[in-house]
Amino acid sequence: MASNNGVNDDGGLIVSFGEMLIDFVPTVSGVSLAEAPGFLKAPGGAPANVAIAVSRLGGKSAFVGKLGDDEFGHMLAGILKENGVSGSGICFDQGARTALAFVTLKSDGDREFMFYRNPSADMLLTPDELNLELIRSAKVFHYGSISLIVEPCRSAHLKAMEVAKDAGALLSYDPNLRLPLWPSAKEAREQIMSIWDKAEVIKVSDNELEFLTGSDKIDDESAMSLWHPNLKLLLVTLGDKGCNYYTKHFHGTVGAFQVKAVDTTGAGDSFVGALLTKIVDDQSVLEDEGKLKEILRYACACGAITTTKKGAIPALPTVPELDAFLNAHH
Ligand code: ADP
Repeated sequence: MASNNGVNDDGGLIVSFGEMLIDFVPTVSGVSLAEAPGFLKAPGGAPANVAIAVSRLGGKSAFVGKLGDDEFGHMLAGILKENGVSGSGICFDQGARTALAFVTLKSDGDREFMFYRNPSADMLLTPDELNLELIRSAKVFHYGSISLIVEPCRSAHLKAMEVAKDAGALLSYDPNLRLPLWPSAKEAREQIMSIWDKAEVIKVSDNELEFLTGSDKIDDESAMSLWHPNLKLLLVTLGDKGCNYYTKHFHGTVGAFQVKAVDTTGAGDSFVGALLTKIVDDQSVLEDEGKLKEILRYACACGAITTTKKGAIPALPTVPELDAFLNAHH
């Protein structure tokens, strides 16, 4: 039963590996970074968002990654703790700062990014710093691809994945493409694909499907070109159109909920967190289309709710919020 800040002590542990950082978003919308009169701090980083999404939904989660030993690093660790995410896999770097990203959505709809990672603490996590005991206790091990961009973090990522896999965890991968962070598009594609065959659950967005396949078609053929024999579930999220799912034996679509979206940041992470919370203790649902569709409906509801509020973490739903939403939308 739920206890300890809503963390379910009986459920399997979901360990999320990667970066946590602070997004600085303009206080007014539709301006360039240069025009912005001021910025608000918004904690983010997809793997950290997923860990919090799980915990908000009553699941048990831990975050593994490195922060700067500075005000911002300790602030982020505090946010994880307040949200019931285990911090026993967090390290602090004495030299490098917590990563920052200045992000704006300009009036022409283009997103502008400016990253402070020269290097940032998250990039400096070494294999020796990993809390292997924590990683071995994961039932699900989730990660992205930003941690593959540079050493030593890349080696830490590969080791953590291997240790989790050897200990029997289900590996879950959401590449979360951030092209400006890579030296080139070619390098991004190659590195993202270099760990493709290890994951048993993979979630890509429609844009990532296009990027990875080189095709402009978001269809079954294009999705299935990414299939590999160890995969149990491939998901393609489609924003306000819901998601497509693919398994060895069946595939289909789950539609989105209609909401008034104000900020879609974190929708994908909320979706992933919800999915992992539902499969961590019973992977047989991946082979039962009826049950899987029910779970994906729940994940789409979490994604939709997350778009209705500004920021990622503040918008991640709790179980009562989700229940109220589902009651209002069935
Ligand atoms: P990502 O954030 O990774 O790009 P998406 O934007 O596709 O992922 O969102 C993930 C899920 O959240 C979608 O599959 C959908 O269910 C839900 N979602 C996202 N945007 C909206 C929206 N505007 N309206 C309703 N649901 C949405």
